[in-house]
Amino acid sequence: MIHLNGEFLPEDRAKVSVLDRGFLFGDGVYEVIPVFGGRPLRLGEHLDRLARSLAEIRIPDPLSREDWAILIDELLARNPGGDRSVYVQVTRGVAPRDHAFPEAIEPTVMAMVNPIRPPGEQVLTQGVAAVVIPDHRWSRCDIKAITLLANVLARQEAVDSGATEAILVRNGLATEGAASNLFLVADGVIVTPPKDHSLLGGITRDLLVELAEANGLPVMETRIPEDSLQGAQEIWLTSSTREILPVTRLDGRAVGEGVPGPVWRRVHALYQDYKASLRQE
Ligand code: PMP
Repeated sequence: MIHLNGEFLPEDRAKVSVLDRGFLFGDGVYEVIPVFGGRPLRLGEHLDRLARSLAEIRIPDPLSREDWAILIDELLARNPGGDRSVYVQVTRGVAPRDHAFPEAIEPTVMAMVNPIRPPGEQVLTQGVAAVVIPDHRWSRCDIKAITLLANVLARQEAVDSGATEAILVRNGLATEGAASNLFLVADGVIVTPPKDHSLLGGITRDLLVELAEANGLPVMETRIPEDSLQGAQEIWLTSSTREILPVTRLDGRAVGEGVPGPVWRRVHALYQDYKASLRQE
């Protein structure tokens, strides 16, 4: 069942007007919230980010925080299953096509549930390949906008070259993946770029930083020059749906020993423990 503007509908009946500004302009924002053992992971942080994205693009938040939580609960109850993710999208709404905001417009609210497939055995033992490509996105990558054309093209370029993800470079700095945040290990220190307008502040990223610090692993939030990627001992990519992917080949060359590294094994275990603690609560 899909949630659309206050109703729960089967997928084939959940329809939106072709004049929806999400369809015409990509004028909207979204969230993806992973759900493990029936419990949303860091729901509060995801709802904070949704509220922030909406405020940044000046769409009035259509629901209170409490009503968002109720909607997500109800949607999960209507879509039972194992590990899942909730996709939430808000667009500016339906109006005759004109770039400027129409007056008196109701946002379109849609939410659906998708299964999550955690990284399989092969990924955990062998890691994944990534390619480095130029970042062609706009300058507000901190907003989780549905306008994802440059991300789509970047991911496809990665897939076309046999890789799992693209690592994006802007002004000589590696910022993040097409749909993931970037970490590397250099001189034994975990490094990730600071949150600014050049990347999306990932909830998995923040959780990983928190878990690492709480467990005595050194973390530095600092910019990553493109040329430090090749010498990195380890590279990881994080996201809500793919957890912490170890990158073992970059542009066809081995990263470190060419297998998932020891620091990755440690943070992967911490993340799995965190997920397990959600299930037990
Ligand atoms: N950066 C981008 C561009 C993304 O699309 C995503 C995932 N949606 C992330 C980072 C990771 O964010 P999160 O950990 O909140 O899923």
